[in-house]
Amino acid sequence: MNGIVYIVGAGPGDPELITVKALKILKIADVIIYDRLVPQELLEGLNAELIYVGKGLGDAKLQDYINELLVRKAKEGKKVVRLKGGDPFVFGRGEEECIYVLRHGIKCEIVPGVTSAIAVPTYARIPVTSRLVESSSGFTVITGTTKDGGLISEEYIPRKGTIIILMGIHVIDELTKVLMKVRSGKEKVAVIEKGTTKQQRVFTGTLNELSKIIKREGVKSPAVIVIGETVSLMDLLTLKKEM
Ligand code: SAH
Repeated sequence: MNGIVYIVGAGPGDPELITVKALKILKIADVIIYDRLVPQELLEGLNAELIYVGKGLGDAKLQDYINELLVRKAKEGKKVVRLKGGDPFVFGRGEEECIYVLRHGIKCEIVPGVTSAIAVPTYARIPVTSRLVESSSGFTVITGTTKDGGLISEEYIPRKGTIIILMGIHVIDELTKVLMKVRSGKEKVAVIEKGTTKQQRVFTGTLNELSKIIKREGVKSPAVIVIGETVSLMDLLTLKKEM
């Protein structure tokens, strides 16, 4: 009899930011196939076979390998967990894997995760929306690059509201040019590296100096970039000194 595949979100980095449901499923898993962004602590003390499939950008061959691995293990009758950083459907390809698995007649369950797109700014005390500042009635999450490796097009950049960028660090020069076609260079920005983890670093400035900040501080992926007025709330949300 066929097993089952669970596509599970592991949360943004802090191992405690996983859901109760995801934790329960990890405990009953026979196989866990996991990515680079999955917090290592979550994998400790489990009985499952652990298979690391961490990958660079746009590696189509690796994706085929993962799809086939999910089906092969499930056909052995196993409970297979595909564990992914954040939420599996936010730039996570969880949907591609689920479609593949279902096409092979295998059951597939989805467990949402806390996405870095929202949790990383929130943990750094930057609200993605707020009534306290102008033009933050909404937020947009975009990727720096598209699936064929091209730069995100100007049409995806909203004129107002908070912009949250994932996978933007490696193309920051070109990306800033596209952003500045729509948004002012004076807009407030924040870059959050390894958000919600003990190694978290946060830098703030303006859009026209974003690229410089990233280079000067040696910011590496994974990092989230936030653009918009809510960045200024970070100061108000931080205790300055003991009262
Ligand atoms: N499915 C994931 C996103 C995968 S795309 C989610 O929902 O969170 C990978 C990108 O997510 C990284 O390049 C980075 O931009 C962002 N990211 C993931 N974890 C992060 C973290 N702890 N700190 C900062 N950025 C993170």
